[in-house]
Amino acid sequence: MENCIFCKIVAGEIPSPKFYEDEKMIVIKDIEPKAKVHYLCIPKTHFALLSEMDEEKAEIVKHCFRVIPTLEEKLGLTNGYRVIINQGEDGGQTVHHLHIHLLGGEKLKDF
Ligand code: AMP
Ligand code: ZN
Repeated sequence: MENCIFCKIVAGEIPSPKFYEDEKMIVIKDIEPKAKVHYLCIPKTHFALLSEMDEEKAEIVKHCFRVIPTLEEKLGLTNGYRVIINQGEDGGQTVHHLHIHLLGGEKLKDF
């Protein structure tokens, strides 16, 4: 997808250290962390919204949620964390390539 910053990171066109990578996803640090620990899990396939999910994309999202718990220790999230997927305008989504925020490293405030 042209002009998608996360596609460019996935492709290595914008350098960003990858804390985890496999055939379906990468994990990078958020450039503007909203908590002491803030990572983004980014599927390699470009799509913006959960509502765009077909079986193939659902498998990718499932894969992300299967892998994330295996990374808790590596990412410093063993004391718990918050998982957020912002969706669209009201959800505050600014990058229109689906991604899963992982926030922790401290006691987070309630919503
Ligand atoms: P969202 O508002 O849910 O779309 O989240 C987009 C997130 O991407 C924000 O938390 C940004 O700080 C983060 N972000 C934007 N550009 C980059 C980048 N080049 N590297 C890492 N994180 C980024
Ligand atoms: Zn993209």
